Amino acid sequence: MKKKFLALLMASVMMLGLAACGGTDNAEKDADAASAELPKVGVLIYKYDDTYISTVRNALTKALDGKAVIEMQDGKNDQATQNDQLDVMIEKGVDVLCVNMVDAKAASGVVEKASAAGIPTIFFNREPDSDTIKTYDKACFIGTNAADAGKMQGDIIKEIFDEHPEYDLNGDGKIQYTMFQGEPDNPEAIARTKYSVDQAVANGLQMEQVGETQVCNWDTETAQKAMEAILAANEGKVELVIANNDGMAIGCIAALSNIGYNTGAEGAPFVPVIGVDATDAAKDAISKGQMSATVLQDGEAMGNAIAAVALNAAAGADFLEGTEYAFDDTGIAVRIPYAPYKG
Ligand code: CA
Repeated sequence: MKKKFLALLMASVMMLGLAACGGTDNAEKDADAASAELPKVGVLIYKYDDTYISTVRNALTKALDGKAVIEMQDGKNDQATQNDQLDVMIEKGVDVLCVNMVDAKAASGVVEKASAAGIPTIFFNREPDSDTIKTYDKACFIGTNAADAGKMQGDIIKEIFDEHPEYDLNGDGKIQYTMFQGEPDNPEAIARTKYSVDQAVANGLQMEQVGETQVCNWDTETAQKAMEAILAANEGKVELVIANNDGMAIGCIAALSNIGYNTGAEGAPFVPVIGVDATDAAKDAISKGQMSATVLQDGEAMGNAIAAVALNAAAGADFLEGTEYAFDDTGIAVRIPYAPYKG
C-alpha cells in the first residue's frame, strides 16, 4: 500500500513537471496513467433511492475526486444483492471498502470476507454491532449517535410548546402526540423513538401517546396513509407529530393538509410536525409554515469524513491519521454531530 502511495506521489510530481512544460496533451495522457495508480475505493450503498444517503454519496464522490477511483454499487435495499456486490469488489482488488449495510446485522459476513482479503473496511450510516467490528482490526464505523437525534427532537418539542402554549389544543397541560418510527428493528429508529419522548419528559413536559407507534419504514406514502387513519379516528386530538425521518413527516403533513391543517395558509389550523434529516422537502415545508422543525443529519460532513478516512486506509495509514476526527469511547466509531434546523 505504501509503495502505491509513493508511486502516486511520483506520478503527481511527473505530471506537474510535464504540465509546466506546457504539454497539455501529455499531461492528460499522464493523468490517465496516474489514475491507474490512484487508490481504488469500493463503496456499497444500501439503496441509491434515499435522499439523505444521496447527499452522503455526492459529498463522498466530490471529496474523492482526483484522489481515488471510486467503484460504487446500489444494493437496492437487498442484502443478498449487496453481498454479491461485495464479492465483485473484493475480486477487483479495491484498496478500501466503504459499506452502508442493507441489514446491519449481516455485517459479520462482510467483516469475514474483507478481513480474509485484508481490505480495510469502513462501515457507515447503518451501524453494525461494535463487537462485530472489533473482530477485525482494520474495520471502523462512521455514523451518528442514534440517541442524539431523538434528544434534539425532545429539546425542540420543549421550545415549540414554550413558545406556543396554544398548541395544547385541549388545554390539559399534556401533549397528545403520535409517533412515526422508521423500521421496527433498526437501532437508529428505536433510539429516535425512545429518546425524543424521554428528552421531552426530562424537559418537564407531560407526554401522552395517541394510538400505536406507526412503523412506516421511513416511507412517505406509508406514513401518509397511517396518518390519515389516525386523523379519521382522532381529528382535533393530535397535538404533535414526531417522525423518525423527514420522509414520514412529509407524509403526515400531506395527510394533515388534506383536511385543512398545516396548509401554510394564514390562520389555518396547525399541528407541529418534527422530523429528522433536513431534506430539501422538509426545509421547503418549514419555509412554507407547514412543518415546525427537523434535525440536520449532516450528509456532507459524513461524506467528507468517509473520504478522509478511506484515503488514509487505502494508503495503509491509520484510519484517523492527520484528520480532525476522533473515535468515541468504543474506540472504533466516529460520530458526526446532529444539529437542529428550524429554517
Ligand atoms: Ca393536550
